[in-house]
Amino acid sequence: MGDNGAVDLELDRAHSARMYDYYLGGTTNFPADREAAARAISAFPSILSTARINRRFMHRSVRFLARRGMRQFLDIGTGIPTSPNLHEVAQREVPEAHIVYTDNDPIVLAHARALLHSHPAGRTAYAEADVTDPEGLLAAEEIRATLDFTRPIALSLNALLHFVTDEHDAHDIVERLKSALPSGSTLAIAHVTTEFDPEGIARLTTAYRAAGTPGQARTREEIARFFAGWQLLDPGITPSHEWHPDPHERSGNVTNKEAACYVGVARKP
Ligand code: SAH
Repeated sequence: MGDNGAVDLELDRAHSARMYDYYLGGTTNFPADREAAARAISAFPSILSTARINRRFMHRSVRFLARRGMRQFLDIGTGIPTSPNLHEVAQREVPEAHIVYTDNDPIVLAHARALLHSHPAGRTAYAEADVTDPEGLLAAEEIRATLDFTRPIALSLNALLHFVTDEHDAHDIVERLKSALPSGSTLAIAHVTTEFDPEGIARLTTAYRAAGTPGQARTREEIARFFAGWQLLDPGITPSHEWHPDPHERSGNVTNKEAACYVGVARKP
């Protein structure tokens, strides 16, 4: 925050949230983001599909969890609002659901109003927080005021952890988040993997690093380890388009290379 109270959105450099918004066809992106996105697209042309396929996993997993009784959602690395947002999917099933969104990019906060249109029966909130400080994140007032930590919480880390490198010990961060949640809580993860197109993903990682955003794609085994000690729900860890595919969706032609992500949902015993 500057001296005059203004938040620096760093519009002169690329941000991952705004690049992702560009892939999804959004309008909350600026020349530096679009230039970096263009370089990412030439490194890995499927990234446009990857983003959409990932987003659809979020829709399906939230609907699945809401239908199975989850009433509280904590979404970390929310991104710029994109319809439908997580709370809209959850509250369509369970109007009284409580949802807290968090992201560390101030531009998400600037657009968070769209995330706060809760169904009147439920509640939504937004906290600006960094997942690399999990205790600080969990202590956020908006989270404590909106979620009851004695009852199950559905944690989602979608397309987030590949921005948390081993330098920050991503696995330890996830363990600390998991340990704060009660039995019956769930964890959903979508994560870019090295396994389907190692060269393309290496080029993509290089393009992001050049744009100032270090990232790390992981193997299936490394992604599976984020769920350690929790019970993976069927069908386990799959490419993002194969997790409970929606029969009404035309995803028949999607390849693993385009999906580029492994996903999974697990439950705390
Ligand atoms: N979860 C959404 C958006 C994914 S884009 C979806 O799957 O559709 C990744 C988001 O993670 C961006 O909005 C970026 O700002 C956020 N992010 C990256 N590093 C973060 C960190 N250390 N803490 C919190 N959010 C982070």
